[in-house]
Amino acid sequence: MADSHGAPFNEVDETADKVFCANCIHCKLLRTPMGNGNQYYLRVRCDAGRWRKKLGEEKYYKYFTVARRSVDNCDDYIPMGDAREYIKELKKTLPIKDEIYSL
Ligand code: SF4
Repeated sequence: MADSHGAPFNEVDETADKVFCANCIHCKLLRTPMGNGNQYYLRVRCDAGRWRKKLGEEKYYKYFTVARRSVDNCDDYIPMGDAREYIKELKKTLPIKDEIYSL
């Protein structure tokens, strides 16, 4: 079944009413060294300090998951542009797993 625009009724617009952290100025990419220091992983952090583990320690997420990071609302959210377009383009360029990079 589809609506008047041809979209199925049960198709959910996953960008509606969500704050995507990847589109926020506080979402920062960082390198986490591994091994002898010539290689690293990519991680993301919220430099507004909103990503926390249960005991209060700061939580980092793997870069390839960044498009999935969203919150219902956030007082510190500062968008960097149109979230819908940005997330769509970002998903095309993200790695599909946690990759190791070399210097
Ligand atoms: S400030 Fe809020 S919206 Fe921005 S990255 Fe942190 S948790 Fe996400």
